[in-house]
Amino acid sequence: MRSEWFKVREVGNATWAIDDRGSDVMYLVGGEERCLLVDTGWGVGDLPALAASLSPLPPTVVNTHGHPDHTFGNGQFAQVYVHAADEAAARKLPPAEMRTWMVDNVLPKPLPADFQFDTWAVAGPDSLETIQDGHVFDLGGRALEVISVAGHTPGSICLLDRQARVLFTGDSVLPGAIWLHLGESLPLSRFHESLRRLQGSADAFDTILPGHADLQALPLSKTLLDDLIDGIGRILAGELVGREEKTFAGDGLRCDFGSCGIVYRPDRL
Ligand SMILES: [Zn+2]
Repeated sequence: MRSEWFKVREVGNATWAIDDRGSDVMYLVGGEERCLLVDTGWGVGDLPALAASLSPLPPTVVNTHGHPDHTFGNGQFAQVYVHAADEAAARKLPPAEMRTWMVDNVLPKPLPADFQFDTWAVAGPDSLETIQDGHVFDLGGRALEVISVAGHTPGSICLLDRQARVLFTGDSVLPGAIWLHLGESLPLSRFHESLRRLQGSADAFDTILPGHADLQALPLSKTLLDDLIDGIGRILAGELVGREEKTFAGDGLRCDFGSCGIVYRPDRL
């Protein structure tokens, strides 16, 4: 059933990690007056009902970037925030044949018995609001600060919680291969610059909560960010070259750096 789709784990500091059937991870962050929902996943499960079961406070909703596995649940909410550079991506809804392909090839299985194809991913939120670097979500007694990390997509963001000393990273820093070979991704050197700027705030957090991970492994050490910056630096310096990797979103070269890795295009360094 759609109400049983998610797995939830409290990861400390009134923060819940919400697993979208092994595909992506969303977070509900509790303040004193509001809570913040970080990403909306594939839109298969009943996310508003889940959020209400975890916190009685009204949720503010933000997307870490505009990709479908982080935004297709947006239509379940009245208002959603996204970085201006990913607004178009977050607004994009798939035509019918693409929705069929996604259901067959991309969505986690098995789908719930009450999944309704006719209403899945056909509408966005009533209001999609854009934000920029430096925007602050004030939850009452707790604030999360938007840090732009252009690379995976132009409008990718991280959210810094200085009080809980945690960084929500979306797809910009995660314990797997970060996709930089996509058409919308920026050159690798631009992503490297974004990550080094992010590292300038590293004194303000100890752990990372990414958009894809095994729930049981959370939260992750912030050394992941150092490993990523170091590894990409070695690719850009010509010390490392990836091996060919084929994905449903195109081909690239893959390099692994121990705790993380990337897929990139050698003609877009
Ligand atoms: Zn993504």
